Amino acid sequence: MRYHVLTLFPDMIMQALGTSIIGKALEKESISLEAIDIREYTKNKHKKVDDTPYGGGAGMVMQAQPVYDAYKALEEKIGHRPRVIYLTPQGSVFHQKMAQEFAAEEDLVFLCGHYEGIDERVLEEIVTDYVSIGDYVLTGGELPAMVLIDAISRLVPGVLNNEESAQFESFHDNLLEYPQYSRPEEWMGKKVPSVLLSGHHANIDAWRREQSLIRTYERRPDLLEKAALTPKDQKFLDNLRNSTCK
Ligand code: SAM
Repeated sequence: MRYHVLTLFPDMIMQALGTSIIGKALEKESISLEAIDIREYTKNKHKKVDDTPYGGGAGMVMQAQPVYDAYKALEEKIGHRPRVIYLTPQGSVFHQKMAQEFAAEEDLVFLCGHYEGIDERVLEEIVTDYVSIGDYVLTGGELPAMVLIDAISRLVPGVLNNEESAQFESFHDNLLEYPQYSRPEEWMGKKVPSVLLSGHHANIDAWRREQSLIRTYERRPDLLEKAALTPKDQKFLDNLRNSTCK
């Protein structure tokens, strides 16, 4: 996976993603990352990349030309038309299935807006996907781009040590993950559930599945409508609903 981020703040991207698991994945070359400074492509002698909006109104708008030229130089370099994700509060809200779909690409381009956004004409020309990270407005697209890069990278082979850890996490099958425990066996008078100490794998799996169902039912019941449930899961949930209704 090769990530290319079109941004006015390249340092923000490179510094933040150079640490922890993503930083290690960059070192191992499981993924690569470049931040392209849109300002380098302006033809304005003062390196200005924004101007006031036509029709009036508050703020500034990023101009089409530097964004387009930065993108075209990249397209020429990689030799094909990649998927270009514009981070915007007006996009589809990001979720795990989208991360899976994006993880299958060879190259991904992230376009980060600032100020009031980017001239619509260049968006029409280059953007393939409009993605939001939630219904709130941030100052720029860099944090959302990093959120996507982090979530997508976990699904790229070789990034996580244990491939299974991405497979059975929250949102896999539209269920939240079961609770996790580590040493010591007792902390502040709270004991680790005894089944997890039993070494009986079938019982542990069954307990985890039930905990997953309980947690999803309590915290994100909306997910259950799309979850892949077995008849046994369904029965467990029916009992749970009946017991909590009383
Ligand atoms: N005027 C724009 C609007 O109302 O839709 C908001 C512009 S926002 C202040 C500046 C930039 O931050 C956007 O161009 C976008 O790249 C990014 N941004 C802000 N909120 C975002 C969100 N929830 N998801 C993804 N990107 C976001």
